[in-house]
Amino acid sequence: MEVFESRELHEECGVVGFYGVDHAATHAFMALQALQHRGQQGCGIASLRPDGTIALHKGAGLVKDVFGKNELSFLPGSACIGHVRYPTTDVGGQENLQPFLVSSKGCHFALAHNGNIVNAARVKGFLEKHGHLFHSTSDSELFAYLVGSGLHGTDWETSIRTAANMLDGAFATVILTSDTLYACRDKYGFRPLSLGRLGEGYVVASETCALETVGASFVRDIEPGELVRIDRNGVHSSYHARNCSRCMCSMELIYFSRSDSVIEGCSVHGFRRLSGRLLSDEQPVEADLVTCVPESSMSAAIGYAEASGLPLEMGLIKNMYVARTFIQPTQSLRDVGVKMKLSPVRSIVNGKRVVVIDDSIVRGTTSRIIVQMLRDAGATEVHMRIASPPYAWPCYYGIDTGTREQLLAAGHSVEEIRKMIGADSLGYLSVKALYQASGRSQLCTACFDGRYPTEVY
Ligand code: SF4
Repeated sequence: MEVFESRELHEECGVVGFYGVDHAATHAFMALQALQHRGQQGCGIASLRPDGTIALHKGAGLVKDVFGKNELSFLPGSACIGHVRYPTTDVGGQENLQPFLVSSKGCHFALAHNGNIVNAARVKGFLEKHGHLFHSTSDSELFAYLVGSGLHGTDWETSIRTAANMLDGAFATVILTSDTLYACRDKYGFRPLSLGRLGEGYVVASETCALETVGASFVRDIEPGELVRIDRNGVHSSYHARNCSRCMCSMELIYFSRSDSVIEGCSVHGFRRLSGRLLSDEQPVEADLVTCVPESSMSAAIGYAEASGLPLEMGLIKNMYVARTFIQPTQSLRDVGVKMKLSPVRSIVNGKRVVVIDDSIVRGTTSRIIVQMLRDAGATEVHMRIASPPYAWPCYYGIDTGTREQLLAAGHSVEEIRKMIGADSLGYLSVKALYQASGRSQLCTACFDGRYPTEVY
């Protein structure tokens, strides 16, 4: 039985942390809902009790379902960390939900992270040979173990820096101890992590949309390789790595992050709108209207319509109330799954040449169904325009792409893909235009060009 979802790519996780904020867990509950798009499998909040111990509640499901008034009342205090999760490299068991609480040998802390550590198997194998048993398949348990075991004879900050330095790959991590909140990013800066101010306290969150939701003001991004310590003396910064780079995941800008977030100074909506304009310049087509696959490609469709002069219309609508994941045994039932989620607006597309803007084609299943849906609703031509380059290489940094064999663009030309999805024409954004839209000279674009910023173990 195959797991099918109408979105073909999945973000791994989102994290938040609060310090010096009354009712911190309730604020985390709201912030995690703002990050719900980053993971729907499960969530958790660990909060600091006044006596210095840490309370934890986590469970499978959406934030609104896991946390009610009762659960939040058991999470007192003015400091906490929280997490939303989508499983990628590991299986989706309860034991992998975060935050992880470590309580042994006088060491008591909670940890949550977003990203994927590429040398985890190697480091775990080494530790297992020396007798350590892991209880989950999550990279976070490894991170927590390294922090905890490094504490003997040293302080928290040194221990976290040493652990972070041993791990290669993507992580945006928050750690809560009996009196301090720590936040750090890997030295490549794959995953975003922002610092905000809320009253006299501080907030860290995977995306700025979570800061906005709780009424925090943006202070700055946490830098690649940086470890931030937040305690009663304020914010203190140090670095766990040298030779840091700025390889932000380009899919954060293209697809994952919320349009109202700002990532390292780049407005996600602004990026997508400009990439749509550049897509129109690079891939023009004679047509009657532009439409988008709601909602992540809406901003790119606005840009495409502006640059092409074609009207932007709501040719497809999304049913907000359909469960996100379907497990369907046959192709025809999987097709029904997409149709439950998306519907063409016949009165708009009937008799029209339609340009459909989407953010990516990964396995091609959804694109094929969308093209057919629009034709069935009377579109005379369907031209697919993709606001990213062909997705041909798997991600090792926390995005669920499947294997290279499962990626359509890995084994097929653009023309072959066009035929497979049944479009009249198909055009992608170039890697050059992707950089141009971001206004950056460094990004991770490995899934488009196979140039991985780290060693791939
Ligand atoms: S490989 Fe692609 S999805 Fe993965 S971090 Fe790089 S840009 Fe993002």
